Amino acid sequence: MSEIERNTAGRQRRVGPPVRTPEHGGRQSEPLGSTGGAMPCIEAAAIRPAVRGKADFHSWQLYRWVKERPYGVQIWRGTWNAATGIDRERPVLYIGHMDITDSAERWFHGRMLRNLCLLAGNLDGYAYGPAFDTAHWEEITREWWEQYMRIGVCAIHGDRAHHWEERGDTRSCSYCGKQEQRVIETIGRAVWVPTT
Ligand SMILES: [Zn+2]
Repeated sequence: MSEIERNTAGRQRRVGPPVRTPEHGGRQSEPLGSTGGAMPCIEAAAIRPAVRGKADFHSWQLYRWVKERPYGVQIWRGTWNAATGIDRERPVLYIGHMDITDSAERWFHGRMLRNLCLLAGNLDGYAYGPAFDTAHWEEITREWWEQYMRIGVCAIHGDRAHHWEERGDTRSCSYCGKQEQRVIETIGRAVWVPTT
């Protein structure tokens, strides 16, 4: 049975603590219009790592976020990243909630998911408005949470967080199932030799 259920009532309600606005610009969260999508109901207990403060299959930081912000757990593929700015070729994942203002502007309140899960202790949220290309952000809440329940932290960190188990010349991730094989690469090297 899926642990994720759409909370259709959440679509109409404005509940939960407002997300803190960023030090780097943005604006206050109010006034708020309708939300940009339904808010799923994620049960924190279902994603709690076994050891306090330590990630295992699940992320401790994500668990804390869900506990503190149950109404900020939408997942969006955002077209803005800190390195290259607006970049529709390289979307990154954000967690939070999308609001649509009366003037049809999209304001996302939340956090880059990877960044949230890397920095222990910090649960700050930020506001991302139209200047962050929010008009082109794509919601993947349901797909992503289903994937997270299936493959854990690999859904957050991709190739940077596999839980490898080696067997001979092969290894596989016990979380997402990715398999790799050890190969010996021969690297060519240019050298100078006397002419004959
Ligand atoms: Zn993996």
